[in-house]
Amino acid sequence: MIFKILAILIVLFLVYLIFFKKGREKDIVQAKKDEKISDEMVECPTCKTYVSQNEAILSNGKFYCSEECLNNK
Ligand SMILES: [Zn+2]
Repeated sequence: MIFKILAILIVLFLVYLIFFKKGREKDIVQAKKDEKISDEMVECPTCKTYVSQNEAILSNGKFYCSEECLNNK
């Protein structure tokens, strides 16, 4: 009887480990995706330089590398 309980506990523990691991992997993949999106390179339409979206200036749906390019569009 004790062995059966132990076996069930071990199985439950293994199932818990598998699900926990999968959850962690999903989180890591999601974090990588978010990083990719926020770090996407966009082309400045004025000087054709590639700049990361974080540093670009958004104007009328276009990303500019600097205020200078924004004003010289
Ligand atoms: Zn530019």
